[in-house]
Amino acid sequence: MVEFQAVSGPGNIDTKYAYIDGQAFPIQKGETILSFIKRHKGKKEVPTLCDAPNLEPFGSCRICSVAVALEENGKTKTLAACHTPIAEGQYIYPNSAPIKELRKNIIELVLTDHPLDCLTCEVNGNCELQDVAARVGIREVRYPKGANHLDREKDLSHPYMTSDLSKCINCYRCVRACDEVQGAFVLSMAGRGFDSHIIKGMNQSFMASDCVSCGACSQACPTSAISDVFQSKAITATETTRTICTYCGVGCNLDISTTNGEVVSIRAPYDAAVNEGHTCLKGRYAFKFYNHPDRLNSPLIKRNGVFEKVSWEEVYDYLAAKLTHYKAAFGADSIAGISSSRCTNEENYLMQKFIRAVIGTNNIDGCARVCHSPTALGMQRTFGTGAATNSIEDLKHTNCILVIGANPTDAHPVTGAKLKQFAMKAGNVSIVIDPRRTELARYADYHLALRPGTNVAVLNMMMYYIITEGLADEAFIAARTEGFDTYKEELLRIDLDEMEAVSGVDRNLVRAAAMAYATAPNAMSFHGLGVTEHSQGTFAVMQIADLALLTGNIGRPGVGVNPLRGQNNVQGSADMGVQPHQGAGYLDVTNPEVNARYNQFYGVDVPAEIGYKIPEMFDAALAGKLRAIWIIGEDVVQTDPNTQKVIRALEATDLVVVQELFMTETAKYADVILPGASFLEKSGTFTNGERRVQAVRQVVEPIAGTKPDGQIIVDMMNKMGYQQDDYTPAGMLAEIAQIVPFFAGITWENLGSNGKQWPVALDGTDTQILHQNDFKRGKGYFEFNPFVETEELTENAKDYPYILTTNRELEHYNCGAMTRRTENEKILTSDFLMIHPLDARTHLIQEGDWVCLESPRGKVDVKARITDEVRQGVLSTTFHFPEIMVNNITSDIHDSEAKCPEYKVVAVRIRKSKGKIKALAES
Ligand code: SF4
Repeated sequence: MVEFQAVSGPGNIDTKYAYIDGQAFPIQKGETILSFIKRHKGKKEVPTLCDAPNLEPFGSCRICSVAVALEENGKTKTLAACHTPIAEGQYIYPNSAPIKELRKNIIELVLTDHPLDCLTCEVNGNCELQDVAARVGIREVRYPKGANHLDREKDLSHPYMTSDLSKCINCYRCVRACDEVQGAFVLSMAGRGFDSHIIKGMNQSFMASDCVSCGACSQACPTSAISDVFQSKAITATETTRTICTYCGVGCNLDISTTNGEVVSIRAPYDAAVNEGHTCLKGRYAFKFYNHPDRLNSPLIKRNGVFEKVSWEEVYDYLAAKLTHYKAAFGADSIAGISSSRCTNEENYLMQKFIRAVIGTNNIDGCARVCHSPTALGMQRTFGTGAATNSIEDLKHTNCILVIGANPTDAHPVTGAKLKQFAMKAGNVSIVIDPRRTELARYADYHLALRPGTNVAVLNMMMYYIITEGLADEAFIAARTEGFDTYKEELLRIDLDEMEAVSGVDRNLVRAAAMAYATAPNAMSFHGLGVTEHSQGTFAVMQIADLALLTGNIGRPGVGVNPLRGQNNVQGSADMGVQPHQGAGYLDVTNPEVNARYNQFYGVDVPAEIGYKIPEMFDAALAGKLRAIWIIGEDVVQTDPNTQKVIRALEATDLVVVQELFMTETAKYADVILPGASFLEKSGTFTNGERRVQAVRQVVEPIAGTKPDGQIIVDMMNKMGYQQDDYTPAGMLAEIAQIVPFFAGITWENLGSNGKQWPVALDGTDTQILHQNDFKRGKGYFEFNPFVETEELTENAKDYPYILTTNRELEHYNCGAMTRRTENEKILTSDFLMIHPLDARTHLIQEGDWVCLESPRGKVDVKARITDEVRQGVLSTTFHFPEIMVNNITSDIHDSEAKCPEYKVVAVRIRKSKGKIKALAES
């Protein structure tokens, strides 16, 4: 065996060197020979096949073999460069004659079992095998024709994924992508030697297997053995544009290929800080909605109950006249706006400016009201800032994750995959607090399966044990917090027997989880709507923040409080002032100094009274106080609670303006419809859940008859006499940077490929971790709040003994207006009700039966899926399909502080459906 010894090299005495073809280059700790060569000689110096940028080194194909010696021109050993660590004093010969011959021979052997149909192959011109074969100089295959696998059948079962394993070169990249990136473990290698072959699940088709359709295998495959129906590896595209996914708050970067102004396919860039070459099926595949025949393509005015197509000029005149009249006759507060978290920051800024500076009211709100408003409020109360304290990248620095009320593998899939990878690794600690046995809960060390609505009880128990076990970080508490003594006194008075009984979680399990969190060197928390969408949502968020204060888990890598934001730009819409109490930059609209600043900046007087939150808008409408409401990209009829009340409110409003892509359930109640543009048709910025402001770049022209939403608002502002320049992201960001303090250093030009995490200083320096030395409010604030049972159960549980909680499924997004217009609809075809086997047996319900769910608000029918993912007495369903309209039965009970609806606790009773609605639904 060749032994390597350290030798001294040129230059700095501390720098260690190795040699490539006799020339010395500095080495870096932890790098492989391949990464060393790539860094100094470029990516093309050594050919590879089984290596991929987002996968661990594997060393199976040996194409990257290089000759390595201990002295110049000394005796060499052939080593696979991709998985051999570089060492000081090594002499590397990447392309010696024997190495070149070896590579050629390897490729010849691969080609003996590979179809030579390059001209008709999807990846012709972009095939890694073809490329390597050309580079190593293959002109013929010297080996005789023998047994092969060229007759393998194609798998065309899946709406997106395809496989033709006759083209497989057994490099394992797909298997590793499925394991290491997604953590789905669907693909594996079966058989031995010549019989070894890739299988899906239990040797099934893609569609029949547990594949989550993320496409990681397709992107990883170096040939077309696994691909997708959009042929994302073909070289047909003429242009590629980098932009940001429109679905969830993870904010994945997408490389979008176009030909002749049409999107043809999407891939994930490996250099994207957020998603590192990965996406879920929504980001990668669910884009066909953008030019779907259902797209609204003309402004519409409803006359005599019928929508009529009108010109943009006519609709602007019509709206300006109506709004001016309502403002004059009933006051500006008779008008309200709901902005959209699907739109860009710049568009949200414009919408709140339009409502405040042109209409003259603070009646502006957004979908954060129905998801994370308690997060913003709770974290502002405790820290002073209502946003994630750290970044997802911090998973590399943490020892413990606490995931509360979130199902990230479905709702935030790329982050979910990272959390799952964390949970699966030995030595890491993971705690899940959730009524459902989610995918993450199955891998967790501690799963606290509490009764829905009892987060506050369980979190108080956790903090009780941390204090009584002496695990509180007293130095941190003394230096950086206030209110602890009173808080502690009140907390230690909780009745553990009662908390254990109401939550249904064994106190010993709570204690063990609390100790695991408190004793971890670094612990991070992640929470979702299972925390916020409760009558005590804000208090639960404050407790999660207090938990971090109590244990000193704040202000450094690998710790903090990290809300998993729902919609793609829900963080940004709130940052831009889409809320009735805080203007752009979270400035208090009632503060006279702030008011003076806004007046001066906008050049008109803006109101200083807090406006209506969304539920208050509906109440005002029903009370006859609201004359007009302008709703952008939000299907309130389908997604807000208590559907019938929302409908009554819209019917009671004289003018309902809906700016949308499709004729949604809400648009049907509009008086005026304005056709907006999708994320592919405009530029701007989205801010993801880790405060990362990223550039959204226009990929295609808006479809005929539509306009970017920002331009529609600008047109209306000008029509109503307020001078506002045309919508451009650079121009808007320059304006926003002057009024939103934490955007001060952001320009369109300096966003680069990976954006910037706010706050961004004037010199462009951004911030990965908040609260490192102090909190925005000075000291972190402890406040005790006791558990209080929701009124939904105290009032209704006797007659409606089951608790329904709502959830999201991977395949669809929110009201489904976009995903239901893609092939995702073939993967998940309808909403379904999760019901525990014993509850199903009690009601004689079988898998697939229609179940009638009845609450004090009404009834809906939904198909049963029998599963122990929910505990006895708890049911769970989604709200993606308007045919079901689950929100007909949800309540309009809200979080006491932020007015976020309590979707997560609905008192219901169940029975097998009598079939009437079933027949309707099936017809
Ligand atoms: Fe889009 Fe979220 Fe999926 Fe990423 S994880 S591709 S942002 S839906």
